[in-house]
Amino acid sequence: MQYEYTTIYVDGQWVEPQGQEPIPVISPASERQIGVVPRSTSADVDKAVAAARRALTASQWSGLGAEDRAKVLMRLADELEANSAERAALTSIQNGMPIMIAGPAEGSAPVGILRYYAALASEMPVEERRPRLGGGGTTVVRREPVGVVAAIVPWNYPQALTMFKLAPALAAGCTVVLKPSPETTLDALELAAAAERAGLPSGVLNVVTGGADVGAYLVSHPDVDKVAFTGSTAAGRAIGEACGRLLRPVTLELGGKSAAIVLDDADVAAVATGLASVSLLNNGQTCHLSTRILAPRNRYDEVVGAVAAMASALPVGDPLDPATFIGPLVSQRQRDRVESYIEQGKSSGATLVAGGGRPALEAGWFVQPTVFGDVDNSSVIAREEIFGPVLSVIPYGDVDEAVSIANDSDYGLGGSIWTTDLDKGLDVARRVETGSIGVNFYELDLGSPFGGAKASGLGRELGPEGLAAYYQLKSIYLR
Ligand code: NAD
Repeated sequence: MQYEYTTIYVDGQWVEPQGQEPIPVISPASERQIGVVPRSTSADVDKAVAAARRALTASQWSGLGAEDRAKVLMRLADELEANSAERAALTSIQNGMPIMIAGPAEGSAPVGILRYYAALASEMPVEERRPRLGGGGTTVVRREPVGVVAAIVPWNYPQALTMFKLAPALAAGCTVVLKPSPETTLDALELAAAAERAGLPSGVLNVVTGGADVGAYLVSHPDVDKVAFTGSTAAGRAIGEACGRLLRPVTLELGGKSAAIVLDDADVAAVATGLASVSLLNNGQTCHLSTRILAPRNRYDEVVGAVAAMASALPVGDPLDPATFIGPLVSQRQRDRVESYIEQGKSSGATLVAGGGRPALEAGWFVQPTVFGDVDNSSVIAREEIFGPVLSVIPYGDVDEAVSIANDSDYGLGGSIWTTDLDKGLDVARRVETGSIGVNFYELDLGSPFGGAKASGLGRELGPEGLAAYYQLKSIYLR
């Protein structure tokens, strides 16, 4: 086996965790086992949280000024930059992400996020003096690190989503216990190795491994001060309930079922080209994808035809081949789930216009990019997050109806408007109930808040707002 890891990273040490059965690492492209990673237990979580607590109170981290912490974080960014290509490949190998996407998203983006937050936190004054409102005296408003952060991430963008949490948390002076997904543990351990090389003080970053049970134990640990979670809405609800009971601050980045609204003035060929990324990025395993495509009735057939042709033409294959746009799904379980949705689509009265099966490849959990036309927004394939390359094209009459269909969803995470009139696009975008939306494209802006409305989550990551979540505010009244 290529990847054999026996230790986790706790308190600056590589230690063998106490879990009995190692976690297999299975390649989604070959379906073969390529490695093992160790499994942590609650006793390992206890040690990791205790180490994070000690590091928090020790003077060498939260006691440092933001500028000194930034120097360490810049060193970590340099370490990560030096092995960007290797980390990107590690993600592809574990979750099937095409390398053309993993390079920028998993290799480079985390480096940029870390540098951004290190610089931003250095500029942020720890204390601000305000004249008291309506009376004499002054109030000192202090920003203090919120404390020990439990960061729990999914497998779909493991490095990037970890850095959405780790960078602002560390920049603010917090310490972190990270629990990656069992499907993508290798890259998290490599991140810890980079932190060690960069000289991050012991206990500031700890990595424990395992599944939902280890995550749930970490979330409710009495010595954790804040939880930052990205994953499914079902797990997010359970975590939100636990944090509610404990009155523990929590950020939840959850699922989505976003809409692309194609306005009747749109350039349909450009729309179809753009939707390859906006609707199918990372084999459809991206939370903010516009998987419901709303097309005007007067151009409906044209849109359906263009989207079907685009999906059918996408190169499907080995995720490490730079030409591949669609790789395998992360696991057999995920493929079963996606295929069951395709069956539900077929029996719902929708018309299958592209894909629907498996490509002719020897191995791997592949599903063809699939498009359904004549989809009713009340059907299961239009309401539930499929998390695979399956699109629904839904007809609408006028713009009011398009907005109403877009908003008729339990979710509100991403979305896109397609038009040749940018002002009109902006107007429609303002009316969609969502945390972020693009006009004629969709791409996260690392300097602006990202997060969900409705069942897509609570709180925001990225931008200055993403840093604010890691401070506790204290007002000191002076007279
Ligand atoms: P998941 O919820 O099953 O697991 C995510 C992580 O949480 C894993 O590390 C898992 O071990 C852990 N976990 C699961 N249940 C837990 C619990 N009760 N308590 C604590 N930890 C628990 O999600 P997944 O299948 O790994 O990821 C796919 C989901 O993530 C999709 O729904 C997708 O939309 C969502 N996602 C959201 C965003 C966003 O920013 N909004 C980004 C990426 C993915």
